[in-house]
Amino acid sequence: MFFVKTPNLIRKMFPSLSWRVETNKKEVFISFDDSPTPKLTYWILNILSSLKIKATFFCVGESSKKYPEIINEIQQKGHSIGNHSFSHKNGWFSSTNSYIEEIEKCSSVIPKTNLFRPPYGKIYPWQIREVKKKYKIIMWDVLSYDFKKDIRSNILQRNILDNIESGSIIVFHDNKKSEKILKKNLEEILKKIREKGYSFSKL
Ligand SMILES: [Zn+2]
Repeated sequence: MFFVKTPNLIRKMFPSLSWRVETNKKEVFISFDDSPTPKLTYWILNILSSLKIKATFFCVGESSKKYPEIINEIQQKGHSIGNHSFSHKNGWFSSTNSYIEEIEKCSSVIPKTNLFRPPYGKIYPWQIREVKKKYKIIMWDVLSYDFKKDIRSNILQRNILDNIESGSIIVFHDNKKSEKILKKNLEEILKKIREKGYSFSKL
């Protein structure tokens, strides 16, 4: 199971992964996993544009190949794109070779990037060693739990607003499971983060 806020112990156990960004500014880093999706990505992009926020989208190769126009749109709007493997591969069930192949295959259908986020956050130390040669491996500091079945709006909002700090990398999901709760809450959450005095940066 995952935590909403990544514990210090886990960050210390895996220091070569990026959990937070070192910064002197009061800023947070919004990220979306599992893009692109025709149902949700455009909606997210509109919200981000209206609030003048830049974010980072971790894209799955399979859907990027299917919806190159959405990938273009993400890029046109000035957001960052990261690699999220070709078929949303779970590292715990993959050999290192096939894991690397998945990442390379994804990289052939998305714009050039040095950012990689492991699907499900699951990656073995020996896979980390290989992936690190070419990519910065981006984990997270705050997991919204937007993908959790029947999560309530106030819980989702508290997960984020009670746990962010300067440099926090926050994860939302651009997928079917999160669509309903995000459409209800994303705009409000971003506004409340801003009200707390944070600015937004992309990775
Ligand atoms: Zn994912």
